[in-house]
Amino acid sequence: MHPALPGGGSQYVPEMMRQYLLDQRMLKKKMESKKKRIIACPVCGKTVVYENSPYRPFCSRGCKGVDFIRWSDESYRIAKGEHEDDNGVQSNGE
Ligand SMILES: [Zn+2]
Repeated sequence: MHPALPGGGSQYVPEMMRQYLLDQRMLKKKMESKKKRIIACPVCGKTVVYENSPYRPFCSRGCKGVDFIRWSDESYRIAKGEHEDDNGVQSNGE
């Protein structure tokens, strides 16, 4: 089952061969992890290399900030909504 080695042919896998197989596996893993993923920024839609962007999944710090502001603004509004009619800013109540 295991590949024939010059001078080998014994029951055990020689240490060198084991190391070789391990290296191959590590190399493959490295190659796979090096594969670049192109993603689209959720804010502006610009394509960005996922691994290259420190602000992933956003393309830039700006977009990350925009998304955060959008998100926090939304939750702020939701939280504030219950007390909206207290200070009479909205006149839809009465
Ligand atoms: Zn963006």
